[in-house]
Amino acid sequence: MRFDIISIFPELFAGVLECGILRRARQSGLVDVRLVNLRDFARDRHRSVDDRPYGGGEGMVFMPGPLFEAIEFCLGAGDRAAEDRGAAEDRGGAERDEKSQVVLMTPQGETWSQNLAAEFATISHLILVCGRYEGVDQRVIDSLVDREISIGDFVLSGGEIPAMVVLDSVVRLIPGALGCEDSAVNESFSTGLLDYPQYTRPAEFRGQAVPEVLLSGDHAKIQKWREEQALEKTKRARPELMNKK
Ligand code: SAH
Repeated sequence: MRFDIISIFPELFAGVLECGILRRARQSGLVDVRLVNLRDFARDRHRSVDDRPYGGGEGMVFMPGPLFEAIEFCLGAGDRAAEDRGAAEDRGGAERDEKSQVVLMTPQGETWSQNLAAEFATISHLILVCGRYEGVDQRVIDSLVDREISIGDFVLSGGEIPAMVVLDSVVRLIPGALGCEDSAVNESFSTGLLDYPQYTRPAEFRGQAVPEVLLSGDHAKIQKWREEQALEKTKRARPELMNKK
């Protein structure tokens, strides 16, 4: 699976790409993440990518020119995408590569969820566009963006952290990314419930003991206890998830 991330601050991604599951998935070739600096597509001496909004108002907006070119570069790049596009052109030109999805990070998008992460994990090429300032020129959205994604009802100063959220939650669902395949199946939301409480050694810590049942070695009993705990936690913390079940 391939990710292209379009941003004016690609350096923000260094940390998340170089640690843990994301690092392993990249090293083993499960995912390929390419950082695309929007400023490389600017046309002037100052490498400008933003301008004042028509109609007045605060702040700046990403202008369409550099963003169109950056997205088109991502759509056309990569052997796979290029081959698919070639095939599309053979079929008469205008058809888009079905396997590439252009995703804009925006507080106005669909709210991100584990279900969406699972859906995105089946796409072979994702292009994540990170906004800044007041956002992006609407014509980019109208012509090139397939999906608008929000990570929640709050406003961040840029789309980079949302893109990291999408990247991380999708990559851990790609078969082979987690050490143990069951990890993703049993987690919060995948089961429709929150996860059960976890304990590790020591069996007693500062006067608090690990629940007896976990030390019993009786797997059926442990399983039953975990299900009860998950149900209990979900009812308490996220009652609305119970209605979805
Ligand atoms: N003026 C815009 C907010 C711009 S915030 C509005 O009111 O809708 C600047 C950029 O940060 C956005 O373009 C987007 O890429 C990103 N961003 C901010 N909050 C976000 C969220 N909750 N989810 C996804 N992206 C977000």
